[in-house]
Amino acid sequence: MMQLKKLDKYAEFVGEDCVQQIYKMGAKLAEKSMVHVNSTYYGGGVAEMLTSYIPLLNEAGLKTEWRLLRGDRDFFMVTKKMHNSLQGMKVELTSEDITTYEATISQNSSFMNLEWYDMVVIDDPQPCGMVAHYRRESPSLYKPLPLLLSLAELQKKQPWVWRCHLDLTSPNRKTWRYLKKYLNDYEAIVVSARKYKTSLRKPHYFMAPAIDPLSEKNRRLSSWEVARELSRNGIDSQKPMILQVSRFDPWKDPLGVIHAYRKVKKEIDCQLVLMGGMAADDPEGDAIFRNAYSEAEKDKDISLLTVQSDRLVNALQRRADVVVQKSLREGFGLTVTEAMWKGKPVVASRVGGIPLQIENRVNGLLCDGIDDCATKISYLLKHKREAEAIGKNATEKVRKDFLVTRLVRDELELFQAITRGFITKSLKSSEQMLLSMLLKLGDLPPLKKTVPFLKRVHE
Ligand code: UDP
Repeated sequence: MMQLKKLDKYAEFVGEDCVQQIYKMGAKLAEKSMVHVNSTYYGGGVAEMLTSYIPLLNEAGLKTEWRLLRGDRDFFMVTKKMHNSLQGMKVELTSEDITTYEATISQNSSFMNLEWYDMVVIDDPQPCGMVAHYRRESPSLYKPLPLLLSLAELQKKQPWVWRCHLDLTSPNRKTWRYLKKYLNDYEAIVVSARKYKTSLRKPHYFMAPAIDPLSEKNRRLSSWEVARELSRNGIDSQKPMILQVSRFDPWKDPLGVIHAYRKVKKEIDCQLVLMGGMAADDPEGDAIFRNAYSEAEKDKDISLLTVQSDRLVNALQRRADVVVQKSLREGFGLTVTEAMWKGKPVVASRVGGIPLQIENRVNGLLCDGIDDCATKISYLLKHKREAEAIGKNATEKVRKDFLVTRLVRDELELFQAITRGFITKSLKSSEQMLLSMLLKLGDLPPLKKTVPFLKRVHE
């Protein structure tokens, strides 16, 4: 029996038409290539999404690679500072921070040949500065031609896109000014929601994140599998469970969750599970975990888990009675999407990308602060039927808007829109003809010396 391609398997969730449309779009881009660069293979939403959609983009036909930025602890301390200050925290980059950042970026550029791709997507601030090492040449040989023929794009290397997953509503001005020096060299900015549109005069695209219903984290699990995962990790299978899955990070407010749980516990005997595996590019995790641990250690009904296990996340989200996301800032919040997909009632802060997902009292509950969070958790624990109805709506919301197939389509469309007008590495024959005609015009200096990008075209 012929094995189904992976994309075909998504027809079960989004319909055959949607899958066929993706194949069609991908077929038009066969031979083209794209690269994503971020700074960790695991931990956090970006890595989660890249893991799920890059194989699907490849299957659709667009050759897509995933490259990783290398850095040491000092570098990631600086980039975490950038991350925090872009989300509005009052921290400033020092001149040493900038030296550390630029040295690591420069080192990375010495072993990443990003010029070979038709489009480069840089995820988040960590690798943002890479663009400075892949300068566009503006060869004099073409200077009169673009003017005459409106082919300005001929002078460019491939387009670069900055994909920011953060909440950019109130970035620290100094950090933003620093990043802008790099961002000015990008062709376009992609953010998770309209409200994160930046002040840069660049085309902006809006692309909500999405989850993969077939991944280990989201696939259906039998009740037996759920029970086995819980017992392996010493989780009580009886007591009502409140769950938050999130990196130990100040923006995820684990202490706030513990305080809300304590309020609920006064009236309902329940347990709290905080699961937060560490991300390789997040050096703050240890300290925030230790704070949570000292708050929680005397309460046997609080479990803190730091294992990295998609199946355990899946099992906990399926077992939980209420899922909480008490973030203080949140670019989007894939953990909310994951829990909603599993039909769980979610109580989550009214911040960042969360209200894009939760329509209050329809498919989840939005909260403001610890007391409100506790009240809403208690309400859901006491009103099972309502919680169930909310959970059902939540699943449908995710099916409609936040499954990975939509993201694959968005990426293919983005690629088409942005590379249009660029003569990139892999040329179609019509583009090649145009180029050779241009090359015959006038007395042009030898290409090999002056225009490495165009040189590749002829190899
Ligand atoms: N995650 C995980 N294990 C953990 C904590 C988080 O696998 O212990 C995953 C979580 O399931 C989700 C992602 O990391 O897929 C977090 O994405 P989100 O957008 O919620 O937040 P971010 O960490 O990107 O700020």
